[in-house]
Amino acid sequence: VIPYRDGQWQQGELKAYGPLMLDPSASSLHYGQAIFEGYKAFAQPDGSIKTFRPEQNAERFNRSAARLAMPAIPVELFLEAGDALISIDRNWVPTKTGESLYMRPLMIATDPYLGVRPSEEYLFVLFASPAGAYFPQGVKPVTVWISEDFVRAAPGGTGEAKCAGNYAASLMAQSQAQEKGCDQVVWLDAVHREFIEEMGGMNLFFVYKDGEKITVVTPELTGTLLPGITRRSLLEMAKDLGYATEERKLSVQQWRDDIASGRMTEVFACGTAAVITPVGVAKANGFEMTINNNENGAVTLALREALLGLQHGTKADTHGWMHTVC
Ligand code: PMP
Repeated sequence: VIPYRDGQWQQGELKAYGPLMLDPSASSLHYGQAIFEGYKAFAQPDGSIKTFRPEQNAERFNRSAARLAMPAIPVELFLEAGDALISIDRNWVPTKTGESLYMRPLMIATDPYLGVRPSEEYLFVLFASPAGAYFPQGVKPVTVWISEDFVRAAPGGTGEAKCAGNYAASLMAQSQAQEKGCDQVVWLDAVHREFIEEMGGMNLFFVYKDGEKITVVTPELTGTLLPGITRRSLLEMAKDLGYATEERKLSVQQWRDDIASGRMTEVFACGTAAVITPVGVAKANGFEMTINNNENGAVTLALREALLGLQHGTKADTHGWMHTVC
């Protein structure tokens, strides 16, 4: 826990997990000045512990902070806090493939002040939790609901920030997706309600096959979707595997046409929590399509294996993305 007051970060403290004291008028509770991050620590074959690109999380955290008129935290302090927490007991980092220690940094406004203005006091809090494999029974495609009723983010809004309010606004759409028998929501752009943005908690990739040529396509960053660190990493790892990559707009109609014509062969979602998740069925009002026979695709699995291998230290870290903790 690191407090911020008088215009600067104060001495931090390692504390046992437990409730925080907050003033009822703390502006995070009313006006939503609250941001967070998520990254993971992995036990390595040599007994060391490494985190995956945590400085990227620190930088995104500071971009979210700037958007919500909150102070930046020095990247070194963000990393130091995480490393100190993990180092308390290296045995709480699971060692099985697919398992990890999930790190959750957050910052909340704590000023006891009822007026609507940026708070002057904040708390940076970081806690960790061992995370089991996302698919304990093996990877299996998910079914997604393309939301036409709700939008996640509008131009000029907070879509590319990882702030609490974005998730509050997404919960009803997630419930609707579940009522429709789907696992996840797919969000469309707010202006045209036509272009694919991302999924709840994950970015999307579309695999095209043209003879021998494989291209992985992901929606371009528009300011209204979260710039995922997994997304960014996979764009580079795809090239390492010999795939072409494209960041561009993709409409739902194009998605349907390209599945129908067979040009698009796989769809998957990616994020820190789920790593890589195949998408097997997409539904919306009035239509339903099956992708790759609702089976795991070869490109999806190749990228998943490459990413997990890198994170768990069974593949070489050619990009220098792993941060040694202890
Ligand atoms: N989109 C949203 C809305 C998310 O919450 C997340 C999870 N942070 C992602 C995408 C994936 O981002 P990352 O790869 O950095 O976990």
